[in-house]
Amino acid sequence: MRPEIVLTHEFVRAMPDELEERTIYVSIDFATVAHKCCCGCGREVVTPLSPTDWRLIFDGETISIEPSVGSWNLPCRSHYWIRRNKVQWSRPWSREQVQAERAADARAKAIYYGNEIEAEEAPPVIVPVPPAPSSTEDAESPVVAKPERRVWRRLKRWMFGA
Ligand SMILES: [Zn+2]
Repeated sequence: MRPEIVLTHEFVRAMPDELEERTIYVSIDFATVAHKCCCGCGREVVTPLSPTDWRLIFDGETISIEPSVGSWNLPCRSHYWIRRNKVQWSRPWSREQVQAERAADARAKAIYYGNEIEAEEAPPVIVPVPPAPSSTEDAESPVVAKPERRVWRRLKRWMFGA
């Protein structure tokens, strides 16, 4: 059992050059959260906020980040949840999990930005998503079927003014 770690949080505009240990920095302007890895290895962990990355919950007193923080790029491979400013340890990533996670993340992004899915429905991680459907209408799988078009249209309108 690892000791319980309690974090503090700080709302900033830009991230400071040096992050303090046990502090969660939140930049709404840049939609980014950063902190030093809670294992104490000193590495900085940046968790961008987006519909396919992390979500931030601020209850007025504490910060939670979803989904979990899995630092598979770091030597420590730390994996934990930050909930209400507390660190809840999860098991370290295995090589297989890392690969599965990367693939799921890429798929989620492809679906969100390519075939589109309502933000709430875009799984930031988990579950196998069927491969992107071919161009024909009826080849579309139910998973990427209806709400997306709206989002994509909105996005297109935003991007191209169409
Ligand atoms: Zn670490």
